Amino acid sequence: MTLLALPALADNYIWLLAQGTDALVVDPGEAAPVERALARHGMRLRAILLTHHHPDHVGAAQELGARHGCAVHAPRDERIAEADVRVGDGDRVVLHAPAFAFDVLAVPGHTLSHVAYHGAGVLFCGDTLFSVGCGRLFEGTPAQMLASLERLAALPDATRVCCGHEYTQANCAFALALDPSNEALAARAAQADAQHARGEPTVPSTLAEERAVNPFLRIDAPALRAALTIEDRVARFAELRRRKDDFRMPAP
Ligand code: ZN
Ligand code: FE
Repeated sequence: MTLLALPALADNYIWLLAQGTDALVVDPGEAAPVERALARHGMRLRAILLTHHHPDHVGAAQELGARHGCAVHAPRDERIAEADVRVGDGDRVVLHAPAFAFDVLAVPGHTLSHVAYHGAGVLFCGDTLFSVGCGRLFEGTPAQMLASLERLAALPDATRVCCGHEYTQANCAFALALDPSNEALAARAAQADAQHARGEPTVPSTLAEERAVNPFLRIDAPALRAALTIEDRVARFAELRRRKDDFRMPAP
């Protein structure tokens, strides 16, 4: 099994998962990085999975699907105009080459029709869960996003978290301001800096790692409760997300 994070656009990742030379990609916002990876590794594109309708995630899906003759799987949302297979919560996407099966989870919050795909020990979570962060609430409510994140957080420890953007360093800076004595978080920040310096992606992480460092999965931890001082969990989560919206990286 090969799992690659293909950098695309400004800070997106298109995920490529392959078995031998049979590959699928997730959220191809542009075609060129996919074509380069297929050519370099001698792979054939056999399926496309989409998590949500934003152009940086779906931009090249139709083009790649047509050129390679493979099915585009997408959530039920008319804003994704063309898809070969529509998926929703509780569905299972069973592929034969590559032979992977994915459970589809509805994860509203960033958008209302956002889905995640879980299978082969991997979670493709789009812009719902990021490493050390979560997506902005463009359409859903804080209660919806919190429930979505908690569903994802309940998946097995070793699940590899394949998110849609390279935001880890900024997310660590925000998280450290609220959770400064979290040693696992400090270690994650140092790791992300080192990965960035080597020109490597900071992802995937694992769900066990995210549970230890991601403030949006840690709203019940004493440090987060002390920092946010709001008793109601949903209101506490909403305040955390609001503060992230306003957060700017300190000047270096
Ligand atoms: Zn998005
Ligand atoms: Fe995005």
